[in-house]
Amino acid sequence: MPTVLKRIRADLHIHTCLSPCADLLMSPKAIVQASAQKDLKVIAVCDHNSAENTWAAVKAGRKTGVLVIPGMEITSREEVHILGWFPAVEAALEVQAKVYGALPGQNDPERFGMQIVADEKDNITDFSQRLLIGATTLSLEDIVRVIHRAEGLAVAAHIDREGFGIITQLGFIPPDLKLDALEISWNFSVAKARETFPEYESFPFVCSSDAHELEAIGRGVTELETNEISFEGLKAALSK
Ligand SMILES: [Zn+2]
Ligand SMILES: [Zn+2]
Repeated sequence: MPTVLKRIRADLHIHTCLSPCADLLMSPKAIVQASAQKDLKVIAVCDHNSAENTWAAVKAGRKTGVLVIPGMEITSREEVHILGWFPAVEAALEVQAKVYGALPGQNDPERFGMQIVADEKDNITDFSQRLLIGATTLSLEDIVRVIHRAEGLAVAAHIDREGFGIITQLGFIPPDLKLDALEISWNFSVAKARETFPEYESFPFVCSSDAHELEAIGRGVTELETNEISFEGLKAALSK
């Protein structure tokens, strides 16, 4: 008998209170609890240019039964947002070190917002001083390369959107850029994306919330066909 694969609900682009533009209630613990309530089995925590809250989210996820993929939303020097999804927190932190080395500037909390590092029990452990909302000096190619070197998956974020989407910034997706998937916004369907971007039909499309507040979690969902709730399962579902 052929194996019937389960459909697993995943929201693979969620910000925490570390992103200056995110709501302060977006603690790692609160995100995981909201995700469990919305029947999400897999989420990815992707803050702007940082992975400092991924440990807390992974630990909170283990207690709640939600698999948290450690991620990051990296801004390239072309002002394009690229998501990195990683097999482990260590891999995300390895890439974070490269990103921090290429991220100039200091945050101004009054102008951009606070950048809270928290643990899995909702204790505040630090405030990041870096200008996380800024652009790195890394090119798109550099970013995809460092993500892949850490065994991660590189995904062009919200390609349908004007701000920081690869198509509006460059006019097209460079054919030699080795992206693993393209993300579309929650208010844009995969069917519409296939119709709008026929030239990119060979890529898997994912849909995520890009949530900056708790209510937005799960408004965009990707159904992964896999029996394995793991990073490997995600990778396998994307390569199909
Ligand atoms: Zn973005
Ligand atoms: Zn985002």
